[in-house]
Amino acid sequence: MNQTQITKEKEGMEQPQTQVQTIPVARGDGIGPEIMDACLYILGEAGARIEPVFVEIGENVYKAGHSAGITPETWEILRKHKIFYKAPITTPQGGGYKSLNVTVRKAFGLFANVRPVVSYAPVIPTKYPGMDVVVIRENEEDLYAGIEHQQTPEVVQCLKLLSRPGCERIVRFAFEYARAYGRRKVTCMTKDNIMKLTDGLFHKVFDEIAQEYPDIEAEHWIIDIGTAKLADTPEQFDVVVMPNLYGDIASDMLAQIAGSVGLAPGANIGEEYAMFEAIHGSAPRHAGKNKANPSGLLLAGVMMLVHIGQGDVAERVHNAWLKTLEDKIWTYDLVRKARAAGITEYREVGTREFAEAVVERLGEEPEQLNPVRYAGKAMRLSFPTTDVRSQKMELDGVDVFLREGTKSAEELGRLLEELAGPEFQLVMISNRGQKVYPGGLPETFCTDHWRCRFRCQGAGEKPTHEAIRRLLERIEGQGLEWIKLENLYLLEGERAYSLGQGE
Ligand code: NAD
Repeated sequence: MNQTQITKEKEGMEQPQTQVQTIPVARGDGIGPEIMDACLYILGEAGARIEPVFVEIGENVYKAGHSAGITPETWEILRKHKIFYKAPITTPQGGGYKSLNVTVRKAFGLFANVRPVVSYAPVIPTKYPGMDVVVIRENEEDLYAGIEHQQTPEVVQCLKLLSRPGCERIVRFAFEYARAYGRRKVTCMTKDNIMKLTDGLFHKVFDEIAQEYPDIEAEHWIIDIGTAKLADTPEQFDVVVMPNLYGDIASDMLAQIAGSVGLAPGANIGEEYAMFEAIHGSAPRHAGKNKANPSGLLLAGVMMLVHIGQGDVAERVHNAWLKTLEDKIWTYDLVRKARAAGITEYREVGTREFAEAVVERLGEEPEQLNPVRYAGKAMRLSFPTTDVRSQKMELDGVDVFLREGTKSAEELGRLLEELAGPEFQLVMISNRGQKVYPGGLPETFCTDHWRCRFRCQGAGEKPTHEAIRRLLERIEGQGLEWIKLENLYLLEGERAYSLGQGE
């Protein structure tokens, strides 16, 4: 592979970090403050070399007029410290509010979302003993670009954008994670049988990069059957890497079937910045009742300690937490699960008492569950990406999208055939991706949104931007409304656009 664009290679912390690190901490909304207090208490008692600096985000900040729930002062603190330990927040109902998480992820380049999902059989009842999956979700691209348009009165669109550097970074991150954490397999899931260019790029990059990690098994599943297998036999998976939307859905599904949503942590990692949180929300119904399970946020804190080179403390906290679960000291959510499974012996505790039980067990290790080991865990966070910017792109045609609500496909096709000449020829018209001209079926339902594909008349001739402008003028001259263009390109001589049926 042509790797000419080498970004700075930062190694993870090799040596245990001994200095105290200042960490911006948000106590959040709803159950946030009580679970965050419990976590900071445990981390402090375990000897974490961290100094929290509290920042305000969330509901009150939204209501004070900050559209992403964060103030300029908090931004500056996060920019300075490059790390964030965050309790869940409440997003107020109604329009005009931006997701704080999406804003922070994009602003700080947190390209990797890491969600370990583990079941704790035989201690916590589960249908999935042996489940120990880490979902690595691409965090910045895909349908989350937030680029949506009303195209015609009947049709809206959302742009799905994937980049080669974006795919390379997340796939390499997944393999590096597997190496650092002693995992044996990385599974990629996409829908590239349908989205051959976008998901196709993700899969292709996965196949390329897998070659560089011969010590790790690599496999690909189509996302639909892959998700079904994840839900049925999660123990067959290890590290799973996915584009943004699939990763979002699959990781929530896995956390739900693993046990309580209160157990699962998430890390958002970039080259320079990182954010650690539980995957659940602020559960306002349970706020202030000393009921909520602080485990997801605590395990996020464990991930944070490993990230900043305090794997020794992370190990102590995680093992004490496992021992607490094993001793059947549970918050209400786990008790409910246990009762449903017919378990009657346990000690039900509140958030604070759970934290105290973990602190009492610091230095102990679980006996039934496997103890964790974090010493020496370090991984690269910055990777080379292939420079493809100078690759040759040649114009090969154009797709003109029209809004037209009165003509049939036949009528539109005959009119555009006339307007195409002399430079172009109409190749086909599709409606919602279904070819309707030439040779369409009268049964096909058509909206007011038409994709009309034009290529050059003569064999070997290539269109120019000027010729496209003239084509648009001819189309406009007939009173038709073009709503957007997509140029068709060859990339290094290869077709770089999807074909309509029958082309
Ligand atoms: P939620 O995750 O807050 O709660 C859903 C249910 O899950 C709760 O009613 C509770 O039964 C259970 N639950 C969640 N966390 C638990 C815990 N720690 N211990 C025990 N049980 C727990 O989801 P929701 O009700 O859809 O959202 C509530 C608010 O949280 C909304 O305003 C939403 O926007 C916000 N939210 C924030 C984040 C975040 O800050 N990262 C993530 C998701 C949702």
